Amino acid sequence: MSFAAASAALDAAFPGRIDRGQAVRDQHGAGDSWHPVAPPDAVFQPVSTEEVAQAVRICAAHGCPIVPFGAGSCIEGQVNATQGGLCLDLSRMDRILRLSAPDMDVTVEAGLTRQRLNEDLRATGLFLPIDIGAHATLGGMASTRASGTMTVRHGTMADLVMGLTVVLPDGEVIRTGGRARKSASGYDLTHLFVGSEGTLGVITELTLRLTGIPEAAKAGLYSFADLQAATDTVVEALQFGLCLNRIELMDALQMRAINAFNGTDLPEMPTLLVDLTGSAAQVDTDRATFAALAQDHGATVHPVDTPEAYAHVWALRHSALYAARGLRPGASSLSTDVCVPVSDLPGLVAGITATLQAEGLVAPMHGHVGDGNFHLVMLFDPADAEEMARVQRVHGELVHRALALGGTATGEHGVGLGKKPYMEAEHGAALALMKRLKVAVDPQNLMNPGKIFDI
Ligand SMILES: Cc1cc2nc3c(=O)[nH]c(=O)nc-3n(C[C@H](O)[C@H](O)[C@H](O)COP(=O)(O)OP(=O)(O)OC[C@H]3O[C@@H](n4cnc5c(N)ncnc54)[C@H](O)[C@@H]3O)c2cc1C
Repeated sequence: MSFAAASAALDAAFPGRIDRGQAVRDQHGAGDSWHPVAPPDAVFQPVSTEEVAQAVRICAAHGCPIVPFGAGSCIEGQVNATQGGLCLDLSRMDRILRLSAPDMDVTVEAGLTRQRLNEDLRATGLFLPIDIGAHATLGGMASTRASGTMTVRHGTMADLVMGLTVVLPDGEVIRTGGRARKSASGYDLTHLFVGSEGTLGVITELTLRLTGIPEAAKAGLYSFADLQAATDTVVEALQFGLCLNRIELMDALQMRAINAFNGTDLPEMPTLLVDLTGSAAQVDTDRATFAALAQDHGATVHPVDTPEAYAHVWALRHSALYAARGLRPGASSLSTDVCVPVSDLPGLVAGITATLQAEGLVAPMHGHVGDGNFHLVMLFDPADAEEMARVQRVHGELVHRALALGGTATGEHGVGLGKKPYMEAEHGAALALMKRLKVAVDPQNLMNPGKIFDI
């Protein structure tokens, strides 16, 4: 059973809309990762939940794999159609369906992007407080349980999704959760689908919790002699309860990459970039307190005093991944994503840096230090199997060190193909329960097969 079996029925249901063009298939066969392109057999862009359900019913009847697709910004090979099948690209389902400013919630179609939602919400004084570094859809972000720089204050997508409309692998449409701020009603199916990476169903609508745009926002930029001093500052600042919205750490090599990529001349030392939001008075007081804590740990404070400077430093931070890749043009990159208790971060980074040096690998580091989540961007020549093996070895060592500290293989990018080898070590017997859940919901194994784990 395959796409071929479903092909004629799909054409009959959606005349002229099942795209088999090679360029479109290639474009949908990979995200932004080192994993080789694996194109689906065809791509379909539905415009409603009913069209998704109809396409899924046809695929289910003919045993055709289905790969949901948002913006394709995933980093772990999640959209690569390794078993072929039909790619369901949700990007045309991009409407805001309902907004309640008094209740601070919104219902959207899954293909709407985070950026578009926040632009459209601006006049209401509300926003969705998730700041990831890519252009991504809200359905994709829920499916990977995305987070990013504002997690330290507002949590992850898991904290902001209140309810979902989902097309199940047999084409049935269900609604989970709702608009109530809390519910003790039955199993939490909403959060079963959040983070399921398209392996359990297709999310077509989401109800999301919003937040008020703060009165004031200011940034601070601090250079430290070493990562330990930077992390100690963060731990103290968190204990002080300062109004911190984002706390980002970049190592010396990452700062060199940012300078080279952006033509800046910031000190090439471990650097903290923080964002404080709240009332104007609170932001000023807390920024002064943060600067004093940083100076106690030997930091140099760099002025970020105008709205232009604020926008500039955050644009520099968001260039981190591409700046890191710029250190070795033409190379591929494997981005690590472990997350550990914050106080364990410097020891973990020191240990893995020694391994990187011993292995002769280049890997700038940036991360959401307020959450203990960081990325090493390991650069390698994809044609060099020996170098690739060294990269995978160091990656494995890092994950196992993080797990030993009570951490996780992936804080935000998800599992896909890249973190799949570590699921057994991370979850043990709980992985078997995940597999039983998958079989119960998707007995034919049609939804994004081969991702997260094999069954
Ligand atoms: C430069 C850069 C910076 C990034 N920064 C961050 C960051 O700070 N934080 C972070 O968390 N991630 C980050 N990412 C990773 C990526 O942006 C996220 O994983 C994002 O959530 C993917 O959304 P998407 O719409 O692109 O989904 P896609 O890449 O299209 O799909 C991702 C997964 O979700 C599934 N899926 C997509 N839509 C649906 C749906 N409607 N229903 C069911 N399943 C679906 C797909 O099958 C796939 O398994 C970054 C990526 C890049 C390239």
